[in-house]
Amino acid sequence: MPRVNPTRTPMAEQGAAERIANFDEVPLGYTVEEAMAEAQRCLLCKRPTCMAGCPVHINIVGFLELAAKGDFRAAINLIKESDALPAITGRVCPQETQCEQVCVLARKYEPVAIGRVERFLADWEASQGDLPAPGSVPSSGRRVAVVGSGPAGLTVAADLARLGHQVTIFEALHEAGGVLVYGIPEFRLPKAIVRREVDYVCGLGVDLVKDFVVGQTATLDELLVEYDAIFLGSGAGLPWFLDIPGENLSGVYSANEYLTRSNLMKAYRFPEYDTPIARGRRVITIGGGNVAMDACRTALRLGAEKSIVVYRRSREEMPARSEEIDRAEEEGIQFMYLTTPVAIHGDEHGQVESLECLRNDLGEPDASGRRRPVAIEGSNYRVPADIVIMAIGQSPSPLIPRTTADLETKRDGVVVIDPPTGKTSKRGVFAGGDVATGGATVILAMGQGRTAAAAIDEYLKTGDW
Ligand code: FAD
Repeated sequence: MPRVNPTRTPMAEQGAAERIANFDEVPLGYTVEEAMAEAQRCLLCKRPTCMAGCPVHINIVGFLELAAKGDFRAAINLIKESDALPAITGRVCPQETQCEQVCVLARKYEPVAIGRVERFLADWEASQGDLPAPGSVPSSGRRVAVVGSGPAGLTVAADLARLGHQVTIFEALHEAGGVLVYGIPEFRLPKAIVRREVDYVCGLGVDLVKDFVVGQTATLDELLVEYDAIFLGSGAGLPWFLDIPGENLSGVYSANEYLTRSNLMKAYRFPEYDTPIARGRRVITIGGGNVAMDACRTALRLGAEKSIVVYRRSREEMPARSEEIDRAEEEGIQFMYLTTPVAIHGDEHGQVESLECLRNDLGEPDASGRRRPVAIEGSNYRVPADIVIMAIGQSPSPLIPRTTADLETKRDGVVVIDPPTGKTSKRGVFAGGDVATGGATVILAMGQGRTAAAAIDEYLKTGDW
C-alpha cells in the first residue's frame, strides 16, 4: 500500500456542552484544504470496491480524484450525474456500512471519509452563488405524476425531467422533502439545505404541488386519466406502537409526531411559532435506530434534564448510524440496553409517570441476524418519566391502497414491487422507497427511485408492461 495518512482528516464540530443548547448543525464541514487532503487519501483503485455497493452508483473514485486536484466544479458535476441530492446524502448516508466499509484503505487504516468530501463539494457549489441553469432537453410530450417529495420522489423526478418528461410532484404536506424535513432535525440536516436541493430538482423543470393528498384530493385512478405514468414514493409515515398498557396516557408520543411538531411546525421556537410540544423533565425514547437518536437528542435540546434511550438489544446491535450514537453519548443521553418496556404508568390526571421494564438476555440470532432479546421473568422495574416517545418503526399509510382497488400490498402495508423495475401490480404505477421497503434509508430510497425512473422511461417509450 503506498504511503498514505492512516487517519482521516477530522471535521470540526460544535462541542457537546454548547450544541445541546441550540438546534444548529453539529458538524461544521471541511475547509478547502481539509477536503483536498482527505480526497488525496484515496488510492484511486483500478477496481474500486467502494462504488459497487452504492445504490445510486456514484462515481466515487472519479469525484475524489477531481476533488484532490481542487477541481471542485467538475467533481460536484460528476456526483450530480447520479445523485441529485449530494448535500443530503453527504450528511445522512450510512457510509460506514456502505462505501466506506469496503474502502481498500479500511483493511489497514481508516477509510477515506467519502461522505464528508461529498458534503464539502455540495456546500462548496452552494457557496458559489446561483447554480448554472440546466440545458434544456427536448420535451417527450409525456406526463408523469410523482406521489411524495421525499428522496425517492425527488430522485425519480430529477431523472425523468432530465430525459424530457413533464413531471409533477404531489406532496401532502406544506413543505417538500419528506422525512428530510419533518423527521431529521435541523442539528443533523438543516432545512435550508433540503430546500436548496428541492429547488435544484424544481429547476430541472419539475412542478411541485403541495397540500395535495393523493387518495383524498385525487385517487391514483383519477391521476392516471391525466398522466401517462405514476411513481408512488409516499414513504412509511404510519408509526408503530408497542401495544402495551398505558399508551393512551398524555405524554406518550410517536417519534413521528414528536419530531414533526419540533421540526416542521417549529414547536422548538414556541411561542414565536404557535405549535405546542410537551417539554418533559425526564424523557424516555424507546428504540435504537436513527429515529430514536433524533428524538432523544431533540428532547435534550427542548430542555429535558434527563433523556434516556431504552433499547432491547445491546449497543452492537443498534441500527442507528454509529457517528450519531457517539454524539448522543457525548451529549449525555443515557442508554438502557437489554431492556423491554412492558407498561406505561400514569398519575391521577392521566399523565405519564413511569415506564415499567424487564431486563433481557441475548439469545440466538433471529431472521435479521441480530441476537434475539429474551426477557428475564420477574426482573420488572420502573423508570420515572413524564414523556415516552415510541421510535420502534413505521409502515406505509393505508390511504392509497385503500382507495386503489388493484394495488397489491403485503400484510404490513408495504406496496409489492418488481425490484428490477419498481412496477406495481397496477399498470402504469411504479413505486419505490419506504412505501415499498418499510422504513429504510435515504440512499436506498434514491436507488429505487433511479431504477424506477429508468423503467418508467422505457414504459413511456414502448408502452410495454
Ligand atoms: P419519505 O421521505 O417518507 O417521503 C414521502 C413523502 O410522501 C412525504 O413527504 C409524505 O408527506 C408524502 N406523502 C405521503 N402520503 C402521501 C399522499 N397520500 N399524497 C401525497 N404525498 C404523500 N435514513 C438515512 O439514510 N440516514 C439517516 O440518518 C436517517 N435518519 C432518519 C431519521 C428519522 C427521524 C426518520 C423518520 C428516518 C430516517 N432515515 C434515515 C430514513 C429515511 O429518511 C427514509 O428511508 C427516507 O426518507 C425514505 O424516503 P421516501 O422518499 O421513500 O419517503
